[in-house]
Amino acid sequence: MTRPDYSSLSAGNIVDFIGDIFERRGADSYLGEQVTMSEHMLQGAKLADEAGAGDHMVAAALLHDIGHYTNEFPDDALEKGVDNHHDEAGAAVLAPFFPSVVTDCVRYHVAAKRYLCATDPGYFDRLSAASVHTLNLQGGPMSEEEVEAFAKNPNLEAIIQVRIWDEEGKVPGMETPPFSHYAPMLQRVVDEHMSMGPQE
Ligand code: FE
Repeated sequence: MTRPDYSSLSAGNIVDFIGDIFERRGADSYLGEQVTMSEHMLQGAKLADEAGAGDHMVAAALLHDIGHYTNEFPDDALEKGVDNHHDEAGAAVLAPFFPSVVTDCVRYHVAAKRYLCATDPGYFDRLSAASVHTLNLQGGPMSEEEVEAFAKNPNLEAIIQVRIWDEEGKVPGMETPPFSHYAPMLQRVVDEHMSMGPQE
């Protein structure tokens, strides 16, 4: 089957576009973790869902690593020691279609790790080996000034929560619903956001 033409993304095809990425690229390895990229993101969504989180949080957990697919670097680039800024890239592609709480969770999920390492003494011990490795490339724990600035984000709580599901969603063999299970919810979030008109 030929791939649909996604050269122009819209509220009508963004969910299919993302689903297509999950399908074609989901089996890619996740930076030295025991799970694939799609398993990892689907596990995050499942954990959010099971925690009773709302659509925005489930969407954020599901999409937090989508930025690994939006730039020209191979996805093992970070593993090789180059920070490919997948957090910024992911937020940028989602921004036209998703509310800021979703894009903030995506944009700051790496920063949240640096924040938690600086503010939660038990957090570092819960990081996977691969995550500790990338932490150093990402700038290490935040400084006091960085912590203070980061804590001002109105979506701080959501950002931290998605980061925690990110950490927990690395379980080999965990059963999750497929992407298609979440597609109607994602479309709802997109439609609701688009109906609010252009945002500041
Ligand atoms: Fe992740």
